[in-house]
Amino acid sequence: MEVALVGVELRLVRLPLAEPFTTALGTRRRRDVVIVRTLVDDGPDGWGECVAEPDPTYWPEYAVGALDVLEHHLVPRLLDGRSLRQVRGHQMARAALECAALDAGLRAEGRSMASFLGATRPVVPTGIAVGRTRTVDDLVDVVLRWHGEGHRAFKVKIQPGWDVEPLRAVRREVGDEVALLADANGSYRSDAVDELATLQRVAGDDIDLVALEQPFAPDDLVGHARLAREIDRPVCLDESIGSLGQLESALALGACGAVSLKAGRVGGLVEARRIHQRCRDEGVSLRCGGMLETGLGRALNLAVAALPGCNLPPDLGPSSRYFATDLTAPFESRGGTMIVPDGPGLGIEPLPEVLDETTITLRTLRSTR
Ligand code: MG
Repeated sequence: MEVALVGVELRLVRLPLAEPFTTALGTRRRRDVVIVRTLVDDGPDGWGECVAEPDPTYWPEYAVGALDVLEHHLVPRLLDGRSLRQVRGHQMARAALECAALDAGLRAEGRSMASFLGATRPVVPTGIAVGRTRTVDDLVDVVLRWHGEGHRAFKVKIQPGWDVEPLRAVRREVGDEVALLADANGSYRSDAVDELATLQRVAGDDIDLVALEQPFAPDDLVGHARLAREIDRPVCLDESIGSLGQLESALALGACGAVSLKAGRVGGLVEARRIHQRCRDEGVSLRCGGMLETGLGRALNLAVAALPGCNLPPDLGPSSRYFATDLTAPFESRGGTMIVPDGPGLGIEPLPEVLDETTITLRTLRSTR
């Protein structure tokens, strides 16, 4: 549904994380995130969260850069009625603006984001991503703490020197019933014989992974294809897939048995829907990946995770996993599941007082049409 956009509000918001999160790319203690609000003349405003991180380490985009490209290139195009596709790259910034525009339309229509995407499940399983800890025992303690709260799927961040041993320790403690993924964030080299041998052990029967995520650099599709032929666990691509076109290349090479789907990384919900359909047609598994989103982004991820093709555990946990105070009313989990919002649009909004308290930059652009 078309709505009369009168402007767009862009904010850089800073939220402290409930606990530090360490991956092969570094340690995060807070989440700086761009929040987009489309201002509508005679209906509800729309909201979108830009998943770009403060540093360009996971992906080339970063929060302050996304704010700049939104302010100077994307929002002016949207307000002028030009296509956002005129701007190359900058998927995360584009996705946030697309989400906010779409959210406004869906709210006006009274239709949920889950329904727009084609989601079929009212409830989805949780999946807890666990960063690197100081010791293997610390890692096991963290996993057991979440396991004790009912969560039954875990993604362990790995990197050279922190892989087989921690994964085996977790598997030993949690038993066979739990789904375990390993995510390397591209930290291994496909031309290093010893690292390939390690990945063979990571994918071994004793650890029993449901998937091995992004072992190699994003552009190393050939390396991923070679590994996929050598191990009998799906190689799941995350950073390698920024568009449907890149998915097609990966499929043609045999480089992916699974995809970590993030609407932000692929430029938005329309592209995410296409990628989901293409993976289903090819029999490729999907999982909804996470970017330490606030409640706003989590609402979207819940809708994505509820798609019929998302058959691998997501990166999805209750708000308390990430923030002491979330931007929205907190999302809770129960027995290792979470409810998919079914209200209009994202089904949730930022709490005005938290939004104002955590905003460090605010820009408002008005339509001149
Ligand atoms: Mg990943």
